[in-house]
Amino acid sequence: MGFGRLIDVSRFRLQPSPAQEQALAEHCGHARFVWNLAVEQHAHWKPGRTSAPGFAEQCRQLTEARAEFEWLRGGSIIVQQQALKDFHQAMANFFGKTHRRPTWRKRGQGEGFRIVAVKPGDVRRLSRNVGEVKIPKVGWVRLRWSRPIPEGVKSYRVTRDRAGRWHVAFTAIPEPVPAPGSGAVVGVDRGVAVSAALSTGELLNAPTLRDTEKERLLTLQRKLARAQRGSNRRSKVKAAIAKLKAREADRRKDWVEKTSTDLARRFDVIAVEDLKIANMTRSAKGTLEAPGRNIRQKAGLNRGILAAGWGQLVARLEQKAPGRVQKIDPRYTSQTCNTCKHLARESRESQALFLCVACGHRANADVNAAKNVRDTAAGHAVAARGGSGFPEPANREPQRDLLLMG
Ligand SMILES: [Zn+2]
Repeated sequence: MGFGRLIDVSRFRLQPSPAQEQALAEHCGHARFVWNLAVEQHAHWKPGRTSAPGFAEQCRQLTEARAEFEWLRGGSIIVQQQALKDFHQAMANFFGKTHRRPTWRKRGQGEGFRIVAVKPGDVRRLSRNVGEVKIPKVGWVRLRWSRPIPEGVKSYRVTRDRAGRWHVAFTAIPEPVPAPGSGAVVGVDRGVAVSAALSTGELLNAPTLRDTEKERLLTLQRKLARAQRGSNRRSKVKAAIAKLKAREADRRKDWVEKTSTDLARRFDVIAVEDLKIANMTRSAKGTLEAPGRNIRQKAGLNRGILAAGWGQLVARLEQKAPGRVQKIDPRYTSQTCNTCKHLARESRESQALFLCVACGHRANADVNAAKNVRDTAAGHAVAARGGSGFPEPANREPQRDLLLMG
C-alpha cells in the first residue's frame, strides 16, 4: 500500500533475533494502539458536528497519552507519530475518493510501523548477502541483501506478515530529472482501456497480470469466499493471492519508474488530469462495459489496477519533475473536439472512439482528451463553444425521448 507521496520501492526480508522480534512486536503494538485511537476519534465525528481532531491536535493527545501510560512512553515516539501520520494520509485518501475509509486494526493483521528521518549510515552492508538496518529502540537488525538498496533512503516501513515473517521496505525520494528546456508540453489522459494516453498519440499500458494469472486470481478469490474462517486452507489461499498481487505490484512499480523518468526527460511541462475532480465525475467519462459475470469481474480487476497505476505515476512525476506537473480539470476534456472545440457528449461515439458531431473529426477518444489536457495547460481554452454536452445529468436522455414521442 502506498502512503501519500512516497512509494515503497523495495522490500527485504528481516532476520531479527528472538529478543529483537519481541521489540519489533512492541513497536507494532504501539502503532496499532495509536492508529485505533485515531479511528475511534474519527468514528464519533459526523458531518455538521465540530471538526474531528486534526493531526496537530492528535499529536498533542499522543503526548498526553504517553504521559499517562508508561508502556506507551517506553516506546518510540517516531513509531507512534508516524502511525498518526499514516492515519491522516489514509483519511486524505478516503476524502480524495481513492481509498476506502481507514478501519480498526486487529492484532496479527497488517502489523507494521514506519520509521522516518533515516540517516545515511542507518543502513549498511555486511557481506554479499547480508546487511543491517538500525531501528530505534531495537538496534541493528540483520536483513537479507537480496538486491541493491536504493540510494537516499528517507524512511522505511517494517511489517510482519501472517506467517510471522518480518520485512523492511525502504522508501527513497528520487532525484529530479532535468527538464529538456525545449518548451514541449505533453497532455496525459488516464485512459479507460489503456493506462494512459499521451497527446503525442502514444498509448501507454501498465503491465498487469497475464490472462492466465487473472483467471487464477479469480479462482482463488472464489475459493477464499468458500473457505472456512481460521482454517488452514484459508490461510494457504490467502498467501497465494498475496503472492499474485505482489507480482502485479512489482511489474507496475517498474513501469511507473520507467514511464515517469521518460516523460520528465522528454517534456518541460506534463499536464495530467486532476485525480480528485476526475473521481467526482468519473460517471461522465464512462466505465468499461462488458457482458458476462467472469468478464465483468475481470474488467473490475483491471479498473482497480489501472487506477492504482495512475495514482503512482502522478506521484512519481511530481517527484521527478517538481514544479513541472500541471493538474487540469478533466470535466470537459473527453467530450470536446480538439480540432474545432465543439463540446458535445454525443461526440463520444464509444469508449475508444471520438467522432465530432460538428466537424467530423475522428480520433482515439483518450488521445483526443490528452490533447485537450495539453491545450488547457498551454493556456488555450477548451470547451469554449458547444451545446448539449456536460453537465447534463445522465438520466436526461430517456426524458427527452419521451418528450419527442409526446
Ligand atoms: Zn470538431
